[in-house]
Amino acid sequence: MTDAVPREPANRGWQLDPLSPTVYTRQGDSDAEQKLPCLLRALDLRHTVGPPHRPSSLPVPLTRRFPFSFSFVLSLPGFRPASVGRQVPGMQIVHFPHPALRFKSTPIIRIDNELRQIVREMFDLMYAADGIGLAANQVGLPWRLFILNLTADPNERDDEHVFINPEIIERKGTIEAEEGCLSLPKLYHPVRRSQEVVIEAYDLTGTGFEMTVDDLASRAVQHELDHLDGVLFIDRLSEFARREVASQVNDFETAFRQQQQTGVIPADTELEQQLLELVQRQS
Ligand SMILES: [Zn+2]
Repeated sequence: MTDAVPREPANRGWQLDPLSPTVYTRQGDSDAEQKLPCLLRALDLRHTVGPPHRPSSLPVPLTRRFPFSFSFVLSLPGFRPASVGRQVPGMQIVHFPHPALRFKSTPIIRIDNELRQIVREMFDLMYAADGIGLAANQVGLPWRLFILNLTADPNERDDEHVFINPEIIERKGTIEAEEGCLSLPKLYHPVRRSQEVVIEAYDLTGTGFEMTVDDLASRAVQHELDHLDGVLFIDRLSEFARREVASQVNDFETAFRQQQQTGVIPADTELEQQLLELVQRQS
């Protein structure tokens, strides 16, 4: 178990990427200071780089809905060995019970070219695995970030969404539907979730946004945000349902431990140490 208490973000505020400076602003949320203190510090940058603005090429509506009308799975069967990430060598989608999946991720306080490159590689990994959502800790990064593209189509760049330091601020209704997870390939089970949620997050330009989503998008947002807290969809199942999937879950555990015994995957203690070092990179 590697749950870590989120560290209070360092007192140095956000750092601008010197190659593509961006003014970090937050829109329309007077409660931001209570909710996201580390991000609000970004507002301080207005004093050093000019008045707040939103890049005209990146309009971020305060509220918008995903259009969708198709049936849902959060991931489709199939896992391929990941391509090697340039920023994080060996970056790949990890499987249960990798300790990263039980790590409570820490807030991101710096958006730079490295993070943008990592996000790009996350999208590539997600598409290669036929997924529609991927959380950072699913690629072994203990940071509060997830990505979505409900089309699962790498050509549909307009449907790519990045959620940095996301928080669900409102929920309505409940609905049950089947889910899967790229970290538990081929395991599917209905999960009860909120039918509609309002989520706040920051995009890769550091711009805050609020989004109201329902149906598949709502389910995906809740599933991915759970990941950031070290929660898996199998944890949301009833006692009865957990027994139904127990043998599949055990198979994942067995396969993972075998890979550790043969040296394919490092021991948990080493993986946990890697996670702690990665936390430092965002602090
Ligand atoms: Zn998942």
